[in-house]
This record gives sequence, structure tokens and C-alpha cells, in this order.
Amino acid sequence: MNTTLSIHGAAGCVAGSCYRLTKPRATVLVDCGMFQGSKTLKGLNYEPFPFDVRAVDAVLLTHAHIDHSGLLPKLARAGYRGPIWATAGTRDLCEVMLADAAHIQESEVEQLNRRNQRRGRPSVEPIYTVRDAGRTMELFRSIKLGHEIDVAPGVRARWWNAGHILGSASIEVLIDEETPLRLLFSGDLGTGGRDFLADPEGPSGVDHLIMESTYGDRVRPPLTPDQRRSLLAEELRAAHEAGGPLLIPAFAVERTQELLADLLQVMANGSAPAADVFLDSPLAIEATEVFLSRGYSATAGRNPFEALQAGERLRFLRTPQESDGLDRLRGWHVIMAASGMCDAGRVRKHLKRLLWRADATVLLNGFQVQGTLGRLLADGVRHVRIQGDEIRVQARVRSIDTYSGHADAANLTDWALRRQPIGGKLFLCHGEPASSSGLADRLAQAGFDRDRLVLPTLDQSFRLGPTEAGALTPTTARLAPGPAPSLDWHNARAALLGELDERLDALADDAARMALLEGVRRLVEGGPPRTSEVVPDARLEPVPYSSS
Ligand SMILES: [Zn+2]
Repeated sequence: MNTTLSIHGAAGCVAGSCYRLTKPRATVLVDCGMFQGSKTLKGLNYEPFPFDVRAVDAVLLTHAHIDHSGLLPKLARAGYRGPIWATAGTRDLCEVMLADAAHIQESEVEQLNRRNQRRGRPSVEPIYTVRDAGRTMELFRSIKLGHEIDVAPGVRARWWNAGHILGSASIEVLIDEETPLRLLFSGDLGTGGRDFLADPEGPSGVDHLIMESTYGDRVRPPLTPDQRRSLLAEELRAAHEAGGPLLIPAFAVERTQELLADLLQVMANGSAPAADVFLDSPLAIEATEVFLSRGYSATAGRNPFEALQAGERLRFLRTPQESDGLDRLRGWHVIMAASGMCDAGRVRKHLKRLLWRADATVLLNGFQVQGTLGRLLADGVRHVRIQGDEIRVQARVRSIDTYSGHADAANLTDWALRRQPIGGKLFLCHGEPASSSGLADRLAQAGFDRDRLVLPTLDQSFRLGPTEAGALTPTTARLAPGPAPSLDWHNARAALLGELDERLDALADDAARMALLEGVRRLVEGGPPRTSEVVPDARLEPVPYSSS
């Protein structure tokens, strides 16, 4: 009982994956991801790691997504010089993604510091810089799926295809101690049955399983690749009929390439109206190049992404000037711009100029974390705030879940059952609380003992035996126990301001609007509004949302 598992991310939320294994002779991290979502969660990215970075001997990386890899440069900046073990595909994708993440942080901090200077506040440092990201890449060592390697004294590891994105893997960790242990970290798992990715695999017979539960409470109807393409074609036809452009917030890696390959196919075979397609994301363009070089699929016997070359119909927009040129386009065209959850990148600029237009369509695809603009749009809010402007949403907002790289509840249960016998615990991580408990219910129905299912909280540690995992008294919890906050005052503020706008719009005249604003002003100043000054229809009674 001398191995400890600490869970430093993806506990009660889907971001910041980071697991730490400590044993007498070594400390190993599995993933080192960035927190995304609400500002409270994102704030954790700026805090020091809750462990001694210099004690870490090796990092094992499941895949390139930023919520799994995004704090690696911060680790390097904090003094980590050991190896980062990953597949070659993950390595190549990390090269473009970490540089991009660093660039975003440098420019965000630059903006913030200009504001801080004006307000007389001290300046802040970026979490890491492009230079830190470059240094991090020097630490990568490539592994091959299925090969067992020594990663640290008394720790061996083997990567199994996870079918989630290019290069993605589950990692089996073998701990050679007085009590030897075999652990399996699922990483993010794919759906299986895809023509772009092989089905997820994994060993059977582990002591403890640490698995994701992103879609633990949802089941999607299984779709063949052809059914998926015909649903996409249907969305394209409807967007074309609405008359304006189609904006697809792009998850730069995997989903963008799969969507693009399918888009080109349905346009080429005439099942959807042909359009100029603009890939407006330097990151997605660079990632696409990785897919062109590393996307070979043994199942397909070819590279299914080979059509993704810039040409007549498909344009790659690299510079901000090329991107700004899209403002002048009229009529039917398709823009894919990052980020997929609309919380950063060029998509925000396009949302700002298209969301108010009733002829435009926004096609969300894939999981939208609570607290992101994408989630607000998916939930049907009528007002959003982008780059300081309040915008009334009139565009058609559509969501398709068919390109999700994530296994659904049925896939997850099935995958877990195939890992049996599982001698000890099954940790359900990387899910919002409802998803993790939804998956716990399914697994219990499938025969797993309830008391072997663990839903850990952030920074919780467990002493691992072959069948037991005793929770240790927390010493370093960065957030109060309980579910990680997914919404915070920033979201509440945006919602309140949106609601105020709705009410102002609904009032009869400007005098009524001034009276309502005066009432609000008094409330803000701390004094109760003098009701005689507030006209009756300006009282805070519900105003129905209108779609006009
Ligand atoms: Zn992922």
C-alpha cells in the first residue's frame, strides 16, 4: 500500500486532466491539462501546481487536446525537465496546439496588462510563453501503441488506441512495488464504428480503472458514417435555404478534419448545395497538415483526409487580413473558425457580425462546456456579450452531436465491461457531476458494485492497494469540496444584462425605460427604488422571449 493516486483535474468537470502517481522511487503524471469553462475553473491555470514539480520523473500523455496537454509548458516553466511520453501523432499535434495556446495567452495577457496599466493595477505574467511551449516539445519522446516501456524507476507503461482523435490512447501503467499494481487510465474514449478512427481498445484485468465520463448520462443513436453524412447534408440544405452564410465553430483537431472531409464529399456528390468553404483558423490549418501526413488508417487502407488540400472550393485563411476579408462576402458560403466552444479565436469575430442576422446559421458540433459562449448559444439564450458588445441572437443556432469524438454512455459502459476483471475501484472522472453519476448508475445496473465506483473531488488522493483505494485526508484542495463550479458571477452578469435588455425592449416608451434604469441604478447604489417612480409595466415581471 505505498502507491498514491492524486487527482488534480477533471474531477467534477471535464477539464484540467491531471493524475499523479507517487510511490517510493518515482512520481509520474498522467496528462497535464488546462482548465476550461467558468472563470473560477480557468483561474486554477494561474495557480501553482499543487505538487512539487521537481519531484516528477515522467509525464505520460493520453492525447493532444488542450484539456489534457495544455499545462505541459507551465510544467516546463516551473522546472520540469523529464520526458513526456506520447504517440507520434500526439506529439505532432501538440507541437501546433501548445504553440497556439501559448500565443493566445501571450496576447490575452498583453491586452489585460494594457487595461491594468490604465487602471493603475500591477501587470500579470502569462501562464507560459511561446518559448516555454517550444522548450516543452524538446521533452517529448515517441512511443508505439502496444509496446511496453520503462518510464520511471519501477514504472512501466503501455499505450492502447482510444479511437478519440489522431494519436489518442488509453495508458496502462504497471507499478512494480511490494504490492504490484496494474492501472488503466482511459484518457478520452472514442465512439467506435467510425471510418476515420479505429475502435477503442484496452487490456482486460486491471486493479484500478480511471475513466472518463463526459457523456456518462447521454446515449446517442448509433450512426453509420453514411447516416452521419446525410444528417450533415440536411443541415447544409436548411442553412442554404435560410439565405445567409453557415458558420461552424471548429474544434481544430479531428472534428474539423472529419467535418471538412464529409462536407466536401456531400457537396461533391450533390446531396448538399456546393459552397466555398473557408477554414479560418491557423491552428486548424496546421492540424490539418498533421492529418495529411499522419492520418493513414489501417482499417481504411488509405488516408481518409487526403481530400483536405486547399484549392478552388476549400480555402485556408492564415492571416488576419484574409480572415477580415470574409466580412465582404455575401450569400451562401461556409466558414469554419475556432474555437469550437466559441470562447476564443476568430469565431467570436464572426459570431459578432452574424448572430444578429436571421438568415445566418451557426452549427455547433460537439460538447459545450458550461460557462462557455457555445453552451449559452446551445441553451438558447437570446442575448450574448462578445468583445464588450451585447448582441441579440437572431441567427439559426443548430447543434449536431454526430461528430463528437466522445463515447456515449453505452459505449463507455461497454468499454468498461471489456476491461474486466477489475479487482479494485473504478474512478469516474472527466465529467460534469450529472454525467459521472449517470455513468455510475449504468455501471451499477451492468453489475459493478456501487461501493467500487468512486467519484473523486479535485485534489483528492487515494492510497492504492490491489483491491482497495483509501481516500486520504485532503491537504492541498484548491477548491472547496463539492462539485466544481461550472457557472460563476460572470455568467450571471451576462444573463442579467441580457434580461435587462429584453425588458427594456419590451417597454412601451423611453420614459418607461428611463424609469426602469433609474430603479436599477438605485438598487446598485444600495438604496431601494422609490416605487412611485417606477412605472407599473417596468416592474420585474417575466417578459416572454420573442424570437423576432
Ligand atoms: Zn479529448
